Amino acid sequence: MNRIQAANSLLAALPRKNYLRLLAGLELVTMNFGEVLYEPGQPIQEVYFPTQSLVSLLTLVEGHLALEVGLVGWEGMVGFPLALGVEVSPVRALVQGAGPALRMSAARFRAELRRSPPLQRELHRYVNTMMAQISQTAGCNRFHVVEPRLARWLLMTRDRVRAGEFRMTQEFLSHMLGVRRVGVTEAASALQKRGLIEYRRGHINILDHRGLEKAACACYERVRDMHGAVAP
Ligand SMILES: [Zn+2]
Repeated sequence: MNRIQAANSLLAALPRKNYLRLLAGLELVTMNFGEVLYEPGQPIQEVYFPTQSLVSLLTLVEGHLALEVGLVGWEGMVGFPLALGVEVSPVRALVQGAGPALRMSAARFRAELRRSPPLQRELHRYVNTMMAQISQTAGCNRFHVVEPRLARWLLMTRDRVRAGEFRMTQEFLSHMLGVRRVGVTEAASALQKRGLIEYRRGHINILDHRGLEKAACACYERVRDMHGAVAP
């Protein structure tokens, strides 16, 4: 099998023949910062394979800020409940890193899935790693304090966009971490004082990723190790 130069690692893991057939039904789109792809309880109309974009999966708890439970970048797919035969999203899917993705209609994706056992296998593997990521995130949100969680989140984002610089507003960060803005500011300032990041006007630059790995809780490594395909 020739190695495929796909910009999404889930697609790149497919045999060439299956990849090319899938590619014929994929459309390159640009996703905009803040765009909502799905709402909880709504039918999934399209699936997305991010190439250089980042999508946050958020759970809504009445009376609280939306809380991030998962992140999808170039290693994965948005809309994976379809791989389990479920056509409704349990979460809000929100674009938080603008950029390109490959898009396919849900109907076509279901048809492709039926005829491609390799695609089924990759999706099942991916759903399993997402279950692990979501479980770890639940534990992390409950037991770990904001600063190591922010460090974990920055590293997870870096891996999924394959860049150490990205845009992120305090409002978004407070949703990601489930804390008020002041808590985000304090944690970001603490990481900045330690020389690990530079953070200004919604722009984050990771200056010392090894140091940031040390500052992050162990949840980062656990999730990374479960996602074999995530960039080093
Ligand atoms: Zn943690």
